[in-house]
Amino acid sequence: MRTEIVERPPILRSINPATGEILGEFKNMGEEEVKEAVKKAKKAQKDWGKIPIKERGRWILKLKEHIRKNIEDIADVISKEKGVSRFEALISDVFPILDLADFYAKNTEKILKREKVKIGVWNILGRESYIEYFPYGVIGIISPWNFPFSIPMGQIIIALMAGNTCVLKPSEFTPKTGILIKELFKDTGFPEGVCEVVTGDGLTGSYLVKSGVDKIFFTGSTQTGKIIMKTAAEHLVPVVMELGGKDPMIVFDDVDIDITTDAAIFGAFFNTGQVCASVERLYVHKKIYEEFKRAVIEKTKKLRVGFSSSEPWGYEIGSVISEKQLMKIKEHIEDAKEKGAEVIGGEIENLFVKPAVILNVDHSFKVVREETFGPVLPIMPFETEDEAIELANDSEYGLTASVWTKDIKRAKRVAEKLQYATVMINDNLITHAIPQVPWGGVKNSGIGRTHGKEGLLEMVQVRHVHTNKLGQKMRAPWWYPFSKEKYEFALSLTNLLHSPSMKEKIQAFLGIAKNFSKISKQKLNE
Ligand code: NDP
Repeated sequence: MRTEIVERPPILRSINPATGEILGEFKNMGEEEVKEAVKKAKKAQKDWGKIPIKERGRWILKLKEHIRKNIEDIADVISKEKGVSRFEALISDVFPILDLADFYAKNTEKILKREKVKIGVWNILGRESYIEYFPYGVIGIISPWNFPFSIPMGQIIIALMAGNTCVLKPSEFTPKTGILIKELFKDTGFPEGVCEVVTGDGLTGSYLVKSGVDKIFFTGSTQTGKIIMKTAAEHLVPVVMELGGKDPMIVFDDVDIDITTDAAIFGAFFNTGQVCASVERLYVHKKIYEEFKRAVIEKTKKLRVGFSSSEPWGYEIGSVISEKQLMKIKEHIEDAKEKGAEVIGGEIENLFVKPAVILNVDHSFKVVREETFGPVLPIMPFETEDEAIELANDSEYGLTASVWTKDIKRAKRVAEKLQYATVMINDNLITHAIPQVPWGGVKNSGIGRTHGKEGLLEMVQVRHVHTNKLGQKMRAPWWYPFSKEKYEFALSLTNLLHSPSMKEKIQAFLGIAKNFSKISKQKLNE
């Protein structure tokens, strides 16, 4: 058999998937270039890590203002690279970053402040402890294309506030946004090397994992996440994994149908359904199922599919990102049709897909089990609260779920039983944009957190500092040489601290008092 050698292309071409317009050419970087970027970031971290948190905060607020002033231009680059409306890019990719920058600039010092720890009996024995946090060094960030600005930029800001520097590998579909991020830091006047960007394909990403970075923040598919974890394990690099989802929306029979159907459609089709937290499964109470599905279908038909940069509000549904993505959507729709489902919409033209509503489906369908990542919404009825919970939990994923009802008590009761890292009540999609709360997944949706206090703590290591205040005054009773008195002392101490009987405690105390002065004089060079 002939061996075919396929050369790796040296250049990535960024193309607007909606129009085919070429937006730029970027290097498909190799191992040496990645190592060089990491070297620069390591060098920069030495100084950046010493800057007081307050001053880092001032830098981040400067960056925030630069982003705010250029918000439309930034959203324009993102919108063209993704093929979705500028309005969408503005509200989901850029706007949340302003709030996030503000939150971390003003709260990092408080969250990372040195903390005294109560150490129980050890405090009585003259010891005290505190914990403090210190940066990892260089954080490697590998990002997807679906939010090419808000996902990496949020992680970069948090990393920098914690005293790290970063190297970002953006998706091969959105290198222009990646380079834009680097330029924003440069234009704000940040020291060189604080935020490096390496453009390239998956191989460039794999070089980053083994390049000597101190931690990896990966956002992308569960499949790629597993590959990265394997490489990271070989180099013992810790990871945070933000992975895929198949998020359920549970609708009870007391909802306002008009509002809730609007929410379902937005949750399913926003960003052309290419959101990890998209509503990918809709469960509606049997009592209102017919009316609800009719309204969803009617409203879905009204959504405008297309792309316009001159009129950013002109279309609700942009293109999908790539042929590969389109194939996945097609496969799920075909599988549903073959198994007898009713598909309304779903027509394909170039990289545009008319939003599809799918009825008569169950959990044996691909569109219900696998992440679709497109404008496709399967709707299923349920009868009881327990059934809804069981259906929602019947998934390998656990990113976000939403519960819709006027009965908040019921919603909280349901939330408690959902195996998801985020549960929203009468809301969906939104929480990645709330920087104060943790973002992440359980099950196959991820490991670790970004955002919130928890996300900041992922960016630092913990140092425990322990002081023995008597350390220069006396020897510890468990040091060498061992002796009968020390042995008895250990037994007495055990009883003094842990015996439930007062009589035993008193006897133990007397035992300690008896042996203590002897023990304190016992030393090796007697
Ligand atoms: P991929 O997993 O295909 O890619 C993500 C990133 O990893 C890209 O930069 C990609 O580069 C890179 N990559 C690919 N192979 C490797 C490798 N072997 N080593 C290192 N890096 C590699 O995901 P998508 O970009 O297609 O994004 C969609 C997925 O992301 C969905 O599953 C979605 O649910 C998930 N996601 C999760 C989020 C969350 O917060 N939980 C948020 C957003 C998306 P390249 O592009 O060149 O292939």
